[in-house]
Amino acid sequence: MRPEMRDYTLRYFDTAAGTLVLDFVLHGDGPASSWAASVAIGDKLVIGGPRGSLVVPAAFDWYLLAGDETALPALGRRIEELPAGAKIVAVIEVDSLAEEQHFETQADLVLHYVHRNGQPAGTTSLILDTLREIEFPPGDAYAYIAGESAMSKAVRTHLTEERGFNPEWVKAAGYWLLGTADAHEAH
Ligand SMILES: Cc1cc2nc3c(=O)[nH]c(=O)nc-3n(C[C@H](O)[C@H](O)[C@H](O)COP(=O)(O)OP(=O)(O)OC[C@H]3O[C@@H](n4cnc5c(N)ncnc54)[C@H](O)[C@@H]3O)c2cc1C
Repeated sequence: MRPEMRDYTLRYFDTAAGTLVLDFVLHGDGPASSWAASVAIGDKLVIGGPRGSLVVPAAFDWYLLAGDETALPALGRRIEELPAGAKIVAVIEVDSLAEEQHFETQADLVLHYVHRNGQPAGTTSLILDTLREIEFPPGDAYAYIAGESAMSKAVRTHLTEERGFNPEWVKAAGYWLLGTADAHEAH
């Protein structure tokens, strides 16, 4: 029987020390979340991949990063890896202040955290509503959006149809789909 498999982002790895860091959202349902919630030292996790990795070119005038907490590792890596002088506008949805993460970066970062304050993940339009209010910097932008699939799709549509983004420079990933197990999509 095929084992249960889910996608996670490598947040950090250290080949010399033989360690890697994964950051799991504990959403209370599903084999991956349940495993992470109850894992004990000595338990085994089989890791396959990487299947591929998206390298973001550093030549854009600015970068838009948006997502929910499943994308914190991916957005965190992009924020920390973009070089000095790169301009980033980021909108990240988490439940509350306690769930915010701090990023170390050389880049010029404007970070907006939005809070669900107890509303279930995947049921609000906080990211889209916040983006609608933001005046974007001038120039060519690259956008990376990841999180609940309907959110990601709606943000992509907003950027390409209402904000003049080049569709080729908008990467929108559905990392999970509200109400469906083991779902992910690219928009
Ligand atoms: C490329 C990629 C990278 C990813 N990186 C990460 C990562 O680093 N960290 C991370 O936490 N997730 C990450 N995800 C998302 C993760 O794979 C999904 O959330 C996955 O569905 C979790 O599996 P599960 O077994 O816990 O739940 P499933 O069995 O897949 O789903 C069970 C139920 O839980 C719901 N559900 C799934 N995820 C969530 C959630 N986050 N909040 C609320 N309800 C949910 C589903 O809609 C379903 O109803 C990534 C996804 C992709 C495609």
